[in-house]
This record gives sequence, C-alpha cells and structure tokens, in this order.
Amino acid sequence: MIVAYGPEENPQGVWVASGRFMNTDGHRFALQNKNVYEIYHGDNLFNPNSNFNDLDDDARKKPIGRLINQRSNVVKYIYHDSNDNEHFICELNKFITIGKENGIHTTGNYPTYLPSYRRAVNVAEGLANNVITPQDLTPQQLQDYTLIQNTISYDNFQNEGVDARISYVFTNGVITKGYGNDFPDRFYENTNSIELVYAQHGEDLILETINNFSLFEGINYIHDDVKVRFGFYKTRRRYSNPDFLAAVIGSLADCNFEEVVSEHAIDYRGIISEGFSYEDGTCFPSTSHANGKAFDTNYLISETLEDLLTNAMRFYGIDYQGRGVTGWKPSIDHSQYLARHEGHLHSGGRNFNQNFIENILE
Ligand SMILES: [Zn+2]
Repeated sequence: MIVAYGPEENPQGVWVASGRFMNTDGHRFALQNKNVYEIYHGDNLFNPNSNFNDLDDDARKKPIGRLINQRSNVVKYIYHDSNDNEHFICELNKFITIGKENGIHTTGNYPTYLPSYRRAVNVAEGLANNVITPQDLTPQQLQDYTLIQNTISYDNFQNEGVDARISYVFTNGVITKGYGNDFPDRFYENTNSIELVYAQHGEDLILETINNFSLFEGINYIHDDVKVRFGFYKTRRRYSNPDFLAAVIGSLADCNFEEVVSEHAIDYRGIISEGFSYEDGTCFPSTSHANGKAFDTNYLISETLEDLLTNAMRFYGIDYQGRGVTGWKPSIDHSQYLARHEGHLHSGGRNFNQNFIENILE
C-alpha cells in the first residue's frame, strides 16, 4: 500500500491536508495514534467506502469508516459534510469492560442458572442495610452471598432524576434495583469483553433546568453549517458503543437542527437524551440498551422533525425505533410500538446494523 500525506499537492489527484493520509485507493484518513471514525453525509461525493453489497437495490456507499488502533484509548469522530469539509466533532476515551446481555425483568422470568437469585437479592439488600450479617446466613445463603462482589450506589444521582438506586454485582451478572415501584428489578448477565466510550465531552456542564432536573451537556459541536448537539437528562447512562455513537453523530450532523427542537427544552437547541448505558454495560430501567447500543431521546416538537431524525438514524444503521401511541407518534416513519414510550423515543438495540461501517485499513 502506498501512503501519501502532508500539505503537498498529491500526484494522485486529491489534495491531502496536513495530518491526513491517503491509501492506494485515494482514501483519506487521519492517523494520529488514535481510533478514528470518518462519518460521511449522504451527498458527499468523496466518500471512499465501498457500496453495500448485501442489500438489494442499495448502491450507496457505507456511511461510516473506522480505523481501529488497539494501542490507543482515544477515539476521534470526524464528520465529512456534503461539500467534504471535515469537522472534528469530538475526542472521547474508550475502555474495555465486561459486556452484558439485555436485561431480564426479574418478576416471573428468572434466570434458570441462578435459581436462588431472588433470595440472593434479598440477602444482598439485607447485608447492604446491615439488617443481616454473614453469621445470620444458612450455608446456601452464604454461597449466594459469595457471588456478590460489590455494590454500586446511584444515591448521589437521585436528585438528577436517575431511576437506578443500587446494583449488586455478582460473578455472572448484575442486578439493579430502582427508586419507587415504577420498574421491577433487572438482571443483566455477563457476556464477553466489550468496548465503550464515555459519550460526554468534558466535565458536567448544566445547560438548563427542566422541571427541576438538570440538562447536562453531552456533545456540543457547532461550526458553520454543522451542528451536533445532545444533552443528557435524568440519566447517568452516558457510555456508548463506539460504533453506535458514530451513527448517532452522523444522524445529528445530517439533521443539523438550528432551533429548539426537543419537547420541554427551553433554549436548548439540541437533542435531549435519556442516555445509552452505564459504564458496566447495564442500563436500568431499560432492558435493551445493553453495552451502549441504544439510546433514548425526548420527542421532538413536530412529527416532521421526528421523521427527519429517524430517517437520518436509519441512514447510519440505527434501524429500530420504539415509540408510544398518543398524538402523532404512531405515524413516525419506520417506528414500532413499544410499551412505556409515551415520553421518549427509543432508538437502536439489538438491531443496530454494523454493516454500515467499513474498516478503513485491513
Ligand atoms: Zn430505550
């Protein structure tokens, strides 16, 4: 492979900017000892990715290129607009954790490999509240107790509207309990190692207060004609699958929302999100955001805007949207009914299609 780089004019034809490289096929990419996503607008004629070859009648280019660098924990997201201007949207930290299966409602649907699971939860709670000591336990309960490695408390975030209260970490998974009785406990079984990025750029920054809860800045890119803005509301589920976040960034950049678009927003002109997953890949109260491959968004202020967003998401491979039944929600393009979704739209999940992403160097 021939690699061209630098500010010099390139005999192969296309000018290569400083810090940018190009392979034999004329495919430009950033090489900075980082992981890089190159995200393309649909009208970008310079998208060097290959066409979809397994989707009938779809000759378009894959919209996302990915350069994996296992030695770096930094992920850089670059958006190429319709005129092929490059936008450096954000740099985020990536890390590896134990992945999770989607959650199981613990009422009625017990994990079969953990028949004493409910008793273990009771024991864990008793221990956490100092009502039970190890000496109080039967041998079987003691065995359950040894499954418990740790607990994660979300008490500090209750005043932000976070639904989770506590997670009990077992050898083979995590049980999360919530505040109040709105949601039953969830169990998230461990899977293989996965990668997550912290999908918030910078420290906690409160953008505005909505119904007494803070809206925190997630990503805030504004440059000329491209805007990628989302904030986190009533959630600490701020960790995303790196590929999924590339699709989210592409969707928002394509929509390029200018005005207040989210329900309940006061001045904020971006998408309001109830989050992806926690840093352990769990996602209470959701069961289907495991490993940060889905996220929730406040409904937008019109169906026209909502359709714009859902179609943009589908363009980047987020091809499942769950919605409620009231108002215009049933006619949101491509969406499906999902219980408990009158307040927000769910996007992604197990149907997130990573065929929309091409490895730049292989
Ligand atoms: Zn959801």
